[in-house]
Amino acid sequence: MPIRTARRLAAALSAAAITTAITAGCAGGPTQPTTAPPQAAPSSPATAPNAPAGAAVGEFSSDAPGSVNVYWTEVPQGLVLVDGLRTLSDARRALSRVQATGRPVVAIVVTHPHPDHVGGLAVFHEAYPTAPVYANVATAEFLRTDPLGFFALTHQQLGDDHPLKPFVPDHPVAPGAALDVGGARLESAEFGAGEAVTAVAYYRPDTGALFAGDLVGNHVTPALLEGHTCGWLTDLDQLRARFPTAKLIYPGHGAPGEPAALIDAQRDYLRTFRALVHPAIAPSSPAGADVDPAERQSVTAELDRRYPDHPRVASLPDLQDRNISAVAAELRAETAANQPPACRP
Ligand SMILES: [Zn+2]
Repeated sequence: MPIRTARRLAAALSAAAITTAITAGCAGGPTQPTTAPPQAAPSSPATAPNAPAGAAVGEFSSDAPGSVNVYWTEVPQGLVLVDGLRTLSDARRALSRVQATGRPVVAIVVTHPHPDHVGGLAVFHEAYPTAPVYANVATAEFLRTDPLGFFALTHQQLGDDHPLKPFVPDHPVAPGAALDVGGARLESAEFGAGEAVTAVAYYRPDTGALFAGDLVGNHVTPALLEGHTCGWLTDLDQLRARFPTAKLIYPGHGAPGEPAALIDAQRDYLRTFRALVHPAIAPSSPAGADVDPAERQSVTAELDRRYPDHPRVASLPDLQDRNISAVAAELRAETAANQPPACRP
């Protein structure tokens, strides 16, 4: 088989695996919104680390497995929505909760181009057609061109509940740009390949609310299928450094939480995962550079022991096995010379 064909096949297979993981488990139902009562935000991040973010933030989480969040944050002229859920039906359920607030959506911001965060965008755009939909250029391009076939495959799996062509955000966010949305200022930061091929985090300096998308999960088993744990670790260091005054992180999966704790926990999970897989790819290990079933079992058992009650962000039963394969391939390609400090053991 020609190398290029083999590469394409490998890319298609891994895209299929990723899409299966990202799209699986999407039956959704409403949950109670988490509303942080208005409160004067302390100026020092060291003060009251668990203080609410200072302005009401509503949330809808689709049902597990594969539960994913959409948030709406109050601004003077209405609400700003963060991300768009996986399916049209989940988005409709969330929309009724948004409409119940009696406040209009004045803008939508998108964190990254994974199908479980953008599949329902069209529902919100239809309901609020004049609200600009923001995303960085790389996200809009990914949604427009579907380079890994994520959206074609998601549509294949979920049918009409997930549009074949996702809604493409029409307002580009330049790297690091600040947005004026409905009378509030929203800062942003762009991140390189990590959890996804690209990501943007949005921050409200007036409330300390940091909407981090999937850069940070809270007590969830992530999908590592894109094989960028090193990039993700680097993203986490940058996220912490960029928004040192953040008071609450609103993650794409799992409950909101205190920034340092959530970022540290995510970093710990990724570093542990890499450290557990690393000996399995050593030339002296039982299967050499390959990871044999016994090694997989032992890595999975240790992860389960260290991280109990971490529901998967997708319902794929062999998600962890696929994660191990992706991280093993990533580690095999790393050398001391190309390894950034964030990823060194
Ligand atoms: Zn994601």
